[in-house]
Amino acid sequence: MKSHQNYIKGQWVSAQSGLLMDVINPASEKVIAQVAKSHHNDVDAAVEAAQKAFPAWKALTVEERIGYLERIYQGIEARKEELAQVIAAELGAPISFSRSGQVGLALRELKASLEEVADFEFEEMADQAKVVKEPYGVVACITPWNYPLNQIQRKITPALLTGNTVVVKPASNTPLTALIYAEIIDQAGLPAGVFNLVTGSGSEVGDYLADHPDVDLISFTGSTEVGKNLYSKAAPQVKQLVLELGGKSAMVYLKGGDLTFAVKKAMDTVIYNQGQTCSAMTRLLVPEECLEETKEAILNYYQEQVVVGDPLAEDTTLGPLVSADQLKRVQDYIEIGQEEGAEILIGGHPLERPGYYFESTVFVAVDNAMRIAQEEIFGPVLCVLTYQDLAQAIAIANDSIYGLSGGVVGPADQALEVAYQLQTGNIFVNDGPRSPKAPFGGYKQSGLGRENGKYGLEDYLQLKAIFL
Ligand code: NAP
Ligand code: MG
Repeated sequence: MKSHQNYIKGQWVSAQSGLLMDVINPASEKVIAQVAKSHHNDVDAAVEAAQKAFPAWKALTVEERIGYLERIYQGIEARKEELAQVIAAELGAPISFSRSGQVGLALRELKASLEEVADFEFEEMADQAKVVKEPYGVVACITPWNYPLNQIQRKITPALLTGNTVVVKPASNTPLTALIYAEIIDQAGLPAGVFNLVTGSGSEVGDYLADHPDVDLISFTGSTEVGKNLYSKAAPQVKQLVLELGGKSAMVYLKGGDLTFAVKKAMDTVIYNQGQTCSAMTRLLVPEECLEETKEAILNYYQEQVVVGDPLAEDTTLGPLVSADQLKRVQDYIEIGQEEGAEILIGGHPLERPGYYFESTVFVAVDNAMRIAQEEIFGPVLCVLTYQDLAQAIAIANDSIYGLSGGVVGPADQALEVAYQLQTGNIFVNDGPRSPKAPFGGYKQSGLGRENGKYGLEDYLQLKAIFL
């Protein structure tokens, strides 16, 4: 079995302790590789390398930095099938989704950032003052397992393009994708220390990295709980943060719209990636009188679209959850929902087969005050809620500590009116397509800052006004 090292200062190095940790395939429950189980001294080495590399990297022209990122793009493109296979193996995402929704998404977003940075104004005038936008220094990138390639891409692309150097701490469930990314970066010939990767546990390595006095910006994607912890830990040093946290987004169906489409759009987000997507529309809101029709549309979707199976099988649409812990979390929420009085329309059980499989599950008779409607489950679970009038629909959708994504399906003018009233960072109106140049990020406790396009670049730059 292969064991992997950290990537520090342009070299592959073992954890100084020599310790390793297992990577498990969630479909087979077997150990498929081992990676370095790093500790504080490994983080110190990575941060030092990033700090030393910063002045020269910052001094390059933007065009020079774009050149390196273009080579990284080509490197991902050249290894995209291998990356999709590794994501299927360590995350359990079906291969078709790994190709398009994981690797394809990363390529589209990276390309969009390269297009946007070409026109980005790194200097501008405010009256007679010259305003220059400068990098912070060393960026700590701490990422989750649900999109193991793109969550890293969304951070390192803007951080590097703007002249920062980085230390990445990937999720322990999915480090193999991150290690291929590091190989690609190594082959792209970045100066030593500009990009560093350290694997290890969040509570030991992630926490220490974020707290490191020589880290200038923390860029974190993950749970709101850990995000809040990092926010408070950044306070003593007034450290800058980018936080992409949880969500409990609503799909609001308005009478007169295409109900089948609204159901498909919400169900897709809880099936793709097994519902382990922060922006999933896990609450479907429909008018009371449309409930029966909604149930029918859900059952039809389920029969036509849900194919549980091996992630490597071409026709699988629902694979296993990422880990035994995640399976337990979903099971616990199913029990909580039933105790709260919600009814199960479909699903509700783990599958009798090896692997961390859980049935696609839909709750009806859900009240928005229930925990299953307020808390992020992060599994293939949809909650259906009903409303009496538009004002109530908007109130229910906004009654959440989160505000990451959402959708409105209905007559175009009315749907747009509702979109304006929802407190959320992204909102899809009918079949509006997403753009990799648009900002991604949340209102309320879904986070701080925005990723993607020119908005992502801005988060990694600080402003200096020079009065001439
Ligand atoms: P998580 O437990 O918060 O972990 C995210 C990352 O933080 C992992 O690398 C983890 O390391 C590390 N970490 C854990 N504890 C830490 C600590 N005390 N200090 C510093 N780092 C720590 O989240 P997850 O379970 O991987 O991912 C699921 C969550 O991420 C969901 O809540 C989801 O909504 C959110 N998410 C948000 C977005 C977004 O863009 N808004 C996108 C994807 C996911 P280990 O892996 O070693 O534990
Ligand atoms: Mg975790």
